[in-house]
Amino acid sequence: MLEIKNLYASIKDSDKKILKNFSLKINDGEIHVIMGPNGVGKSTLSKVIMGHYSYEVNKGDILLDGESILPLTVDERAKKGLFLCMQDPTVIEGVSNSEFIRTAMSSKSQEKVNLYKFVKSMEEAIEDVSLDKNMLHRSLNMGFSGGEKKKNEILQLKMLQPKYIILDEIDSGLDIDSLRIVCRNIKKYMKDNKDSSLLIITHYPRILEYLKPDYVHILKDGKIVKSGDLNLALEIEKDGYSSVTGDDNVE
Ligand code: ADP
Ligand code: MG
Repeated sequence: MLEIKNLYASIKDSDKKILKNFSLKINDGEIHVIMGPNGVGKSTLSKVIMGHYSYEVNKGDILLDGESILPLTVDERAKKGLFLCMQDPTVIEGVSNSEFIRTAMSSKSQEKVNLYKFVKSMEEAIEDVSLDKNMLHRSLNMGFSGGEKKKNEILQLKMLQPKYIILDEIDSGLDIDSLRIVCRNIKKYMKDNKDSSLLIITHYPRILEYLKPDYVHILKDGKIVKSGDLNLALEIEKDGYSSVTGDDNVE
C-alpha cells in the first residue's frame, strides 16, 4: 500500500509551496488517477514520491506498507518497488538503453543479471512494445521520438517489475496505435502482477477507458478537491475543470 499523509511540499530553495495537505491512499491492486490543470503540481507530486532532489517535503509523510520512505534516497525507493514513468524522460548520452536497464535490474536485485536470460526477456519485451531492436543499443532516450520515449519507459517497467507504479502523462504525444500498445502492456502487467498498484497522471479519459481505474481524483490548490470514478474524467473532458470544482478561474 502506498499512502501519502497530509503532505506539504515545496520547490527546494524557494518558498514556492506546491502540495498543501495532500493525502491519498492506494491499496495493492488499485488503479488511481490524478487529473488537474497545467502547473497544478501533478509532476511535482510524482517526483516528491520518488525523492527528486529539487523538491522538499515540509510536513506529512509518504509510506510504503506502513513504513516512511522519506529518509530514503531515490535508488533505495526504487529498490522498494517504486517506479516513475517520467513525463519528460531524461536523455543520457553514452549510456546504452540495454546497459541502463541491465544495470538497474542488477542493482535492484543485488545480483548480476544472467546475460542470456536478460537478452531473451529484453527481446520479448521490446517486441511487446513494438520498438525497433536497435533501440537497445542507442544512448538512453537520445534522439528518441516522443512516442519511442514513452514506449521505452514501458519497456523499463516490464523489465524492472516494480510494485508501485506512477505514470506521468504516459499518453501525451502518443498516436492512437502507440497508445493501444502502451495500454495493452500496462493492462497485462497489472493482470500478471495483481498486488501492484498504479497512479496515472493524465489529461485524457481515453487511456482510462482502456485501463479502467478504481478512482479518479482532481488536484487543485495542492490537494485533492474531488474524487470519483471514470465518469468524473468524462465530465472534465466535456465541461472542463471549472464545472467539477466550481471555480470559474480554473480553465
Ligand atoms: P503539472 O505537472 O501539474 O503541470 P508541475 O508539478 O510540473 O505541474 O509544476 C507545478 C508548478 O511548480 C509550476 O508552476 C512549475 O513551474 C513549478 N515547478 C515545478 N518544478 C519546479 C522546479 N524544479 N523549479 C521551479 N519551479 C518548478
Ligand atoms: Mg506535469
